[in-house]
Amino acid sequence: MTAIKEPSFRESVDLMFNRAASLMDLPPGLEEKIRVCNATYTVRFGVRLRGDIHTFTGYRSVHSEHMEPVKGGIRYALAVNQDEVEALAALMTYKCALVETPFGGSKGGLCIDPRQYEEHELEQITRRFAYELAKRDLINPSQNVPAPDMGTGEREMAWISDQYARMNTTDINSRACVTGKPLNAGGIAGRVEATGRGIQYALREFFRHPEDMQKAGLTGKLDGKRVVVQGLGNVGYHAAKFLSEEDGARIVGIIEWDGALCNPDGIDVESVRQWIVKHGGVSDYPDATHSAEGGEVLEAECDILVPAALEGVINLSNAERIKAPLIIEAANGPVTAGADEILRKKGVVIIPDMYANAGGVTVSYFEWVKNLSHIRFGRMQRRQEEARHELIVSELERLDRYLDDAWSMSPNFKAKYLRGADELELVRSGLDDTMRIAYQSMREVWHSRDDVEDLRTAAYIVAIDRVSKSYRAKGL
Ligand code: GLU
Repeated sequence: MTAIKEPSFRESVDLMFNRAASLMDLPPGLEEKIRVCNATYTVRFGVRLRGDIHTFTGYRSVHSEHMEPVKGGIRYALAVNQDEVEALAALMTYKCALVETPFGGSKGGLCIDPRQYEEHELEQITRRFAYELAKRDLINPSQNVPAPDMGTGEREMAWISDQYARMNTTDINSRACVTGKPLNAGGIAGRVEATGRGIQYALREFFRHPEDMQKAGLTGKLDGKRVVVQGLGNVGYHAAKFLSEEDGARIVGIIEWDGALCNPDGIDVESVRQWIVKHGGVSDYPDATHSAEGGEVLEAECDILVPAALEGVINLSNAERIKAPLIIEAANGPVTAGADEILRKKGVVIIPDMYANAGGVTVSYFEWVKNLSHIRFGRMQRRQEEARHELIVSELERLDRYLDDAWSMSPNFKAKYLRGADELELVRSGLDDTMRIAYQSMREVWHSRDDVEDLRTAAYIVAIDRVSKSYRAKGL
């Protein structure tokens, strides 16, 4: 048993940052400037509910303003605290730099168990929290743009957007004050699935590089790989669904708050999700073995482990027993700094959070651009693209007639080729491109430097280098 104390989440992020920064040649003092959190605003406000005044505590932390607006979600959970919000804001800075979204890093949180409140009560609480933040420009299209995180979603973002618009009636860009909104309230197609989709694209890119797979002792393709997912919330659900339905991966374990489901033949993700929606948890789900000690399934035999729930779940107490050769961090900070060291020594490859779950903020960026341009992606080009394709297809049809039986168009070619790209296809294409390029920038550092052992350190080096260049351009 080790006697080393587990650092806090923020300390863990700082330790990982320091490890990478020590391998860089930063000007004196700049390292410290980048690492520290610029400001954290704490608000305590009262809301009258059920005849009583309830006091809530919320935070919005701004880690780095080397680019503005700053960006990051708002989390609703009872465990929210300043240390956590600051760690998450720091991760946002590095995440945005790594995937080249032009934002600084921020994060917000409200200490609340949303399940304890009716919808209209949550609306009152959210609007009040949004009011407190907006009046200090901590919600603002050009300064600070929140988004969903754990415990929040489209509904909360719509309330926040509307609250900001009521307070800024002449701001033509008010919808860009928050992302992750519903489609009918200024959202973008593909935002809800974006983080899970990003996990899929990240793994596809990883499996395009045999050298990287070899480091994890893996061979072959994603098809048939055994996957354990922790958390079937928005991120875990979409990741597991896409990996199993589109890439042939086998989901052999699903860990939820009330235990875990295991089935070596694979679990149907959609039917488990429906079961959770109906019954509130995974207990009694018929087509898998249920084990009450969910956490132990993190240590199960599998090829890919996807922690998609909370921070700190892989720590000094279980890291040694983890058997997965590849971990992709769908959650923020699921592996503590101590566990990271143990896993590295064991040869486990970790695809780090700041890259793996960046699909959300990437599509948020597209939504923000859409809001500022006041037009849906593809609206101008789609039919023109189709008309040009029509020209080629009619020429091919002429050839088809001329060549008679010697050649013919493949079935479905015409229908597939004719269709111009709609917003969802464009969003997925932009996300895929972003995930590929960011992965390549990390692996370039990973493979070209002898002193860089892992993808996380490589990711930090790429991100810190970009942030430091922005600071230097600003005269720091
Ligand atoms: N909350 C998400 C994250 O941790 C999304 C942030 C955003 O879209 O701004 O990356």
